[in-house]
Amino acid sequence: MRRWSELAERVAATTRTSAKTDLLADYFRSADPDELAIAAVFLTGRAFPEADQRATGLGWATMSAALAAVAGVDRAALTAAYDRFSDLGLALEDVLVTAGHAPDPAASPRLREVAASFSQIESASGPAAKAAIFEALIARCDPSTARGVIKVLSGDLRIGLREGLVEAALAKAFDRPLDSVKRAGMLVGDIGRTAELARDGTLETAALELFHPLKFMLASPAEDAAEIVRRLGPLVWVEDKYDGIRAQMHKRGGTVRLYSRDLHDITSGYPEVIAGAQDLIWDGILDGELLGFRDGVVLPFVALQARLGRKAPTPQILADVPVVYVAFDVLGLGGGAGDPVRPLLDAPLTERRRTLEGLGLPLAGADDGAGGIFALSHLTSADSADALEGAFSEARGRRNEGLMVKDPGSPYSPGRRGYGWLKMKKALATIDCVVVGVEVGHGKRHGVLSDYTFAVRDEANDRLVTIGKAYSGLTDAEIAEMTRWFEEHTVSRHGRYRVVEPSIVVEVAFDVILRSRRHQSGFALRFPRIARLRPDKPATEADTLETVARLFEELQPGAERLVTAAARAGSGAPEP
Ligand code: AMP
Repeated sequence: MRRWSELAERVAATTRTSAKTDLLADYFRSADPDELAIAAVFLTGRAFPEADQRATGLGWATMSAALAAVAGVDRAALTAAYDRFSDLGLALEDVLVTAGHAPDPAASPRLREVAASFSQIESASGPAAKAAIFEALIARCDPSTARGVIKVLSGDLRIGLREGLVEAALAKAFDRPLDSVKRAGMLVGDIGRTAELARDGTLETAALELFHPLKFMLASPAEDAAEIVRRLGPLVWVEDKYDGIRAQMHKRGGTVRLYSRDLHDITSGYPEVIAGAQDLIWDGILDGELLGFRDGVVLPFVALQARLGRKAPTPQILADVPVVYVAFDVLGLGGGAGDPVRPLLDAPLTERRRTLEGLGLPLAGADDGAGGIFALSHLTSADSADALEGAFSEARGRRNEGLMVKDPGSPYSPGRRGYGWLKMKKALATIDCVVVGVEVGHGKRHGVLSDYTFAVRDEANDRLVTIGKAYSGLTDAEIAEMTRWFEEHTVSRHGRYRVVEPSIVVEVAFDVILRSRRHQSGFALRFPRIARLRPDKPATEADTLETVARLFEELQPGAERLVTAAARAGSGAPEP
């Protein structure tokens, strides 16, 4: 462990990535055969491999009490050292050095002994039992080794190591192609195991294994629709972004397990999903979202919260908050009856979706009345920023958070926050506006008046002032009905644009309020979308300019600065 601690120190002191890689590669090459895996796992700042369900369960209070005892100081001294370093490992080292802590070097624990102690701490029950094992371990460590142990335990390595760098060092140490190391890492989900495969030249044997959760593919936030189309376009796939709990489902025969985003086994919390999946004839791995769902309606996230973290939900909770598994991806598939599961990670999303749709998932609310536990994510495509914004409004209209925009050709990249998936952020607030103008829409909305210009009330001057324009997020039936109404209440026509009687109130969602000279109000909404009609509200009760100004101050304190900065840069106020 001492050598590992020293390596960590040297890596921390080096800023150049290539130098860090060299140091690590040298270390890996000379590592003890049965300690290579442990060293690699520790280097990613973990006491156990990532997909391992275990955690030591040592809290700060327990740890600091034990450390103070070993150093023979009171906890205040340790806290003072922590305040100086903002790092528990360095603070402890300092306190131990000052205390003259110098155990017999021959007793210094080896990596495997440290790993064994971590396992014992994990299985010990109660803080006192855990503290005793921990204290005995630290007592054997010289100050520098103790620093390393603490850094691993606190997950606070601060040596600038990402898993990618450890993979690069493994490739270099054992002269393997980096892609092979990454691929194996992705499949086995354990950097320690990957290290051994790289050393032994057996990276190709890495396979997708059922009941070993893969890291989840992540999405990058996107600034706006135009940026999304620029990055992924021209044609993008658009799914609703559901506000639930991400879950990976593994199935072999009648055994079904669910894993959370942090790779924990959450199977026991969702017995109805497990029961609903057991009889499917294939084996494989799905990616999806658990949603509260009752009588055909998605329940708000707050309802689902009652089930979060519950290992054994009561019959009452199961009845109050039933869930549905909205599947949006398939990561591996086998024919059942013990067939090996073929990874689908490299297949394009188009193929994975086709496979998913062919799985015969029993859908909730299906016509056959069987009442399955599954749903498939709502999927459409878009080929322009306008279409994407329209889809956003529609997703919001279905009461979902927003959109996940996906590159139809993209592979499934576990654990990567790449640009294959982009998420369109949820709105911060909504305001109720009066529709003052309408236009015919584009695409499938070309025959209907679906683009609305809307306004808020300027009470001081007793008038309506425009604040934005958006593509309707209403249902086709609502749009048809509103088109008839607007045709009948057109005040004047200016080419495509109609000024209409200001009576219809709509709830408009947006991301940011900006100052803008484009609209009469002096404000503009970024990402405005019409969330719903407010037939219950007369125009006199629409939101006011004063409210908008207040929201501008409250919600986006940075917006003013953004405008100023842009103006200084000579580009004027940013337009939505
Ligand atoms: P965020 O949590 O804001 O980073 O957004 C990403 C999360 O959105 C994912 O981890 C999923 O839990 C969730 N999500 C909801 N709907 C989808 C979808 N259709 N595709 C992928 N992820 C989704």
